[in-house]
Amino acid sequence: TVEIRGVTKAYGDLVVLEDVDLVIPSGSVTAIIGPSGSGKSTLLRSINHLERVDRGYIAIDRELIGYRREGDTLYELKEREVLERRTDVGMVFQNFNLFPHLTVLQNITEAPIKVRGLSRGDAERLALDLLARVGLADKAYAYPRQLSGGQQQRVAIARTLALKPKVLLFDEPTSALDPELVGEVLDVIKELAQSGITLIIVTHEIGFAREVADRIVFMEQGRVVETGSPEQVLNDPQHRRTADFIAKVL
Ligand code: ATP
Ligand code: MG
Repeated sequence: TVEIRGVTKAYGDLVVLEDVDLVIPSGSVTAIIGPSGSGKSTLLRSINHLERVDRGYIAIDRELIGYRREGDTLYELKEREVLERRTDVGMVFQNFNLFPHLTVLQNITEAPIKVRGLSRGDAERLALDLLARVGLADKAYAYPRQLSGGQQQRVAIARTLALKPKVLLFDEPTSALDPELVGEVLDVIKELAQSGITLIIVTHEIGFAREVADRIVFMEQGRVVETGSPEQVLNDPQHRRTADFIAKVL
């Protein structure tokens, strides 16, 4: 379970998250939608320990992100402890972020060897399994530049899965792709949705969100305006601003 409680964050005077409260059950699929600048990426980055929140807290399976609790006091974690806990959370970005000078296989095995201490042989077996799962078994020895955007994104997903995260975050995973490559990446995410891992997906693909998400969260100006099942939020929004947004993107 991912628990987000009263999370507030500002950059200087600009409040980008305001009193965000969400509880995301293990194994569920949550789609976050909302206009540009509404704080969606900042929220994901906060869940992945890439941002520090000003108020409130985020916990995964009751472990606080970025802090350690002793009695009633919170202590900031040291960089090394943050890195250890971050392996609970995987994040897939819009622009794939693969290492260009490493092969597909090396991209996937690097972290399991360094972070999880796997042997090279075990890491490679794991990587080949994951590549098969995303339909790229034949690309293990290719370099990222030799792959299409959709293939690169599927490698990025395999790389993230190699650390066996409890929670997988996607930040607009298909928005950098040519339209004809979107489907193959969404298909991989759909499969993951069946697998029991907790997924949180920021997306503009409303049709996809409707099909895959258990719950849709609509954000605007740093606030959660509305959450509910896809039917509720998309077909029968309770707030004018949700309705206006959906009318614009559909
Ligand atoms: P988009 O749909 O365009 O990706 P978003 O909902 O992901 O938007 P965020 O990237 O979370 O929005 O940004 C929320 C607000 O915070 C924006 O106004 C943005 O300009 C601002 N912001 C984000 N990162 C920083 C930063 N490092 N310093 C200052 N302001 C920032
Ligand atoms: Mg964003």
